[in-house]
Amino acid sequence: MSHAVTQTAARAGGGLLLAGILLSACSTSSDAADAAPEDGRLLIDGGTVVVMDDAGTVLEGGAVLVDGGAIAALLDAEAARPADVPVLDATGQLVIPGLVNTHGHAAMSLLRGLADDLPLMTWLNEHIFPAEAELVDPDFVYWGTLLSSIEMLKSGTTTFADMYYFRDEAARATIDAGIRAVIGPHVIGFPAPDFASPAETLSDAAEFMERYRDHPTLIPGMAAHSLYTTPLDDVRAAAQLAIEYDAPFQVHTAEDASESATATELTGMGVVEALASIGALRPGTVLAHSIYLTDEDIERIAAGGAGVSHNPQSNLKLGIPRAAPVVELLAAGIAVGLGTDGAASNNDLDLFDEMDTAAKLHKFTNADPTALPAEAVFRMATMGGARVLNLHDRIGSLEPGKRADIVLLDTRRAGLTPLYNVYSHLVYAARGSDVSTALVNGRIVVRDGRVLMVDEQEVMERAHTFRDRVREVVARVAAEAR
Ligand SMILES: [Zn+2]
Repeated sequence: MSHAVTQTAARAGGGLLLAGILLSACSTSSDAADAAPEDGRLLIDGGTVVVMDDAGTVLEGGAVLVDGGAIAALLDAEAARPADVPVLDATGQLVIPGLVNTHGHAAMSLLRGLADDLPLMTWLNEHIFPAEAELVDPDFVYWGTLLSSIEMLKSGTTTFADMYYFRDEAARATIDAGIRAVIGPHVIGFPAPDFASPAETLSDAAEFMERYRDHPTLIPGMAAHSLYTTPLDDVRAAAQLAIEYDAPFQVHTAEDASESATATELTGMGVVEALASIGALRPGTVLAHSIYLTDEDIERIAAGGAGVSHNPQSNLKLGIPRAAPVVELLAAGIAVGLGTDGAASNNDLDLFDEMDTAAKLHKFTNADPTALPAEAVFRMATMGGARVLNLHDRIGSLEPGKRADIVLLDTRRAGLTPLYNVYSHLVYAARGSDVSTALVNGRIVVRDGRVLMVDEQEVMERAHTFRDRVREVVARVAAEAR
């Protein structure tokens, strides 16, 4: 249920006037805002604030007061504005919680568009895994993760969960870009680019988890690739470490029809049953994809409290002939967020695009235009994703006390005019390129569509230098597979 708190009367009255006086008194507002430090104060004023609290509050002409990296207060159009606070003018903009991308492989942006139009297991085993074995090194991961972080921030994503290799370089890239990210040790049951075995990966995993446990934007998290690539004991060890650190734990789950048979062969259990048997279905566990689920699986996931990352575009592109049972998962009370998956299987990291696809996919597969309405889909991309990562006390909505991860989306565009319903525009009409501004932890990291923390041109130039080597290795790997 939701209701919009409209302030049309106030907009014509004293509230707007008061805000106007403060804005004009603060003539250097944009410079001041540019310079606002992470722990500074900032008033984002005059936009339509889409709070994403349980009541579905929307404040037209509202304001968000940011203080010390957190959301200090929400003000409606009539409320008096605090004095002496730099103002970020949000006129004509939607002020929304930063989007949460619950599953991906960020550095794979350097492999975008190399091997398309193939089935999942062929794509993985004959193209991606062999190519990664030769190509992926610390430099590849740093620059690829930085490139993806820029793409995500510019399209409104302020938090993403990553599953890849060379965790230290991935972590450094996200910190440099100023994006919030879940990154950490990733076990896979064959020699990976960074470690020769799960045991090696895990040997100093605790040190990584320890080092970042109090970091303001880097959330250490564990990952196991899947039950079809990784022995159950190693998956258990990774999940156990996540439990010890109360951290997120990601695992590819029931993405392909073949997984259940493989899991049964390897463990004597179905995929979800096996995860339940090792205590991995807890809050903070991210079951990426979760397409081939039985009713019993859904009951197990609901009982354990794990969340599901729904990646509709990746699934569609890889020709998975079934959609994740999102309507049933939500009905069972399971946290569902959206994910892009890696850029090699999507091929973009724009969650606005993903929301549009998710909303339409489930109307199509359920033959029901009322399935997954726009507000429910926007909730998945914000609070739903925050719940999936078990970070809903920190991010996912614009409620006071949460970290100030805030995105401004400019509606003064032909494709977004006029505006009747904010959720409709956010899901069906807006694109990532409509984002003008993004804050993470109270710091402005995107302004006027430009990233502020890193030199985007330099990152693109560095990314470009990987192309020749990637082409050569991937062409050879594909030839050898034939
Ligand atoms: Zn994935």
